[in-house]
Amino acid sequence: MEKRIVILGAGESGCGAAVLAKKLGFDVFVSDFGTISDKYKQMLDEKQIAWEEKQHTEDIILSAGEVIKSPGIPNEAPIVVKIKNAGIPIISEIEFAGRYTRAKMICITGSNGKTTTTSLIYHIFREAGLNVGLAGNIGNSLALQVAEGDKDYYIVELSSFQLDNMYEFRANVAVLMNITPDHLDRYGYDMQNYIDAKLRILQNQEPGDAFVYWNDDPIIKEELPKYKHGKLYPFAESKHNDAAAYTEAEKLIFTEPTPFNMELEELSLTGKHNLYNSMAAGISANVAGIRKETIRTALSTFAGVEHRLEKVAKVNGVEYINDSKATNVNSCWYALQSMKTKTILILGGKDKGNDYNEIAELVKEKCSGLIFLGADNSKLHSFFGGYGIPIADTSSMQECVKAAYGMAKSGETVLLSPCCASFDLFKSYEDRGKQFKECVCKL
Ligand code: ADP
Repeated sequence: MEKRIVILGAGESGCGAAVLAKKLGFDVFVSDFGTISDKYKQMLDEKQIAWEEKQHTEDIILSAGEVIKSPGIPNEAPIVVKIKNAGIPIISEIEFAGRYTRAKMICITGSNGKTTTTSLIYHIFREAGLNVGLAGNIGNSLALQVAEGDKDYYIVELSSFQLDNMYEFRANVAVLMNITPDHLDRYGYDMQNYIDAKLRILQNQEPGDAFVYWNDDPIIKEELPKYKHGKLYPFAESKHNDAAAYTEAEKLIFTEPTPFNMELEELSLTGKHNLYNSMAAGISANVAGIRKETIRTALSTFAGVEHRLEKVAKVNGVEYINDSKATNVNSCWYALQSMKTKTILILGGKDKGNDYNEIAELVKEKCSGLIFLGADNSKLHSFFGGYGIPIADTSSMQECVKAAYGMAKSGETVLLSPCCASFDLFKSYEDRGKQFKECVCKL
């Protein structure tokens, strides 16, 4: 009998893996403890793939030769513990799909900037006319694309959870944006576990591969000597030896493999964090041999990504910005740092073990008001309560935008950059951002 592959979690990655596994002739079973959306049920039925929802049938699952686990399912879930105890290997969808493609893999990870950088790299490769797919954490299954007609390149966004279950996969170009605390609730509140997961992006790299990273990140700097990696392509704001990209006299300078430069003001994305994202994307494209003219044009035409410092509207002289994707403290730091006016900051939600000290100084310097938006705002009150900045306490987006409207004066900015996950009050950060935009547009 052919090997049984069990897939835990029937979302985008799980269903894509199921389709590929079925095509390859495996005996496939998909199990989801929640409900499966109609779109994915239809996809599985069309391919005659067996599935179950709202339960895990253990005798089928524990008879698997290999399990592909959705990155959303924690390692502590009882079924995952049982699979591990039974000695059955657990891999991620990316690991599985990577076995069946010869495409070059450009992989992006980091605590912040993944989606922006991944989208930007994809945009450059498309502008260059290459046969390229966009995959991973960004919402498109790699396995499904491999099953449906392979590409020459994939630009793959990798979360730490995907990396956790990757072993043989090799990134031809590995991009590591930064490492700051995030998801500590899933890593036993031990930062080193999270760091180790991120550095897995380097495993299996060969000397001809490339490692693109932010040179000023203290954690990456400390960890780098512990790992084997491809050729190094560090980037940083100020010039330093060996930099593959840096800035000087209002110019962004790329040094290798092909040297070229462009005016900083030509970059379509603004803010210091986006400078790093543009550098990482430009180097990755440069390493892939894309012409400098194409890179330059693509970096200046990129339209940006929804929910990331997205301008929504100007109402009564107040700018409203949706940065709902800022789900940790560091991303909010960059958002606040890029604000050019006094700011009413909206923050709160599901706290992931946040330390707000990182934004304390910026809040004092830039914020003329704070709006807490969460089911439980007590931690925010105890941290920011003594700052002497007006505070509003809210628990729905309608209430929150109303409070912001009441607080903001002409010339100021209202910034939704919540530092927290959204699941206490919203379906997702996208839902939170959409509701924000809807409420602002009704003002
Ligand atoms: P990710 O996919 O890693 O969550 P995104 O590109 O979606 O990253 O950006 C998430 C948020 O993080 C943005 O709203 C922005 O405020 C912030 N951000 C983007 N790029 C960076 C970066 N290079 N460094 C720090 N913060 C960033």
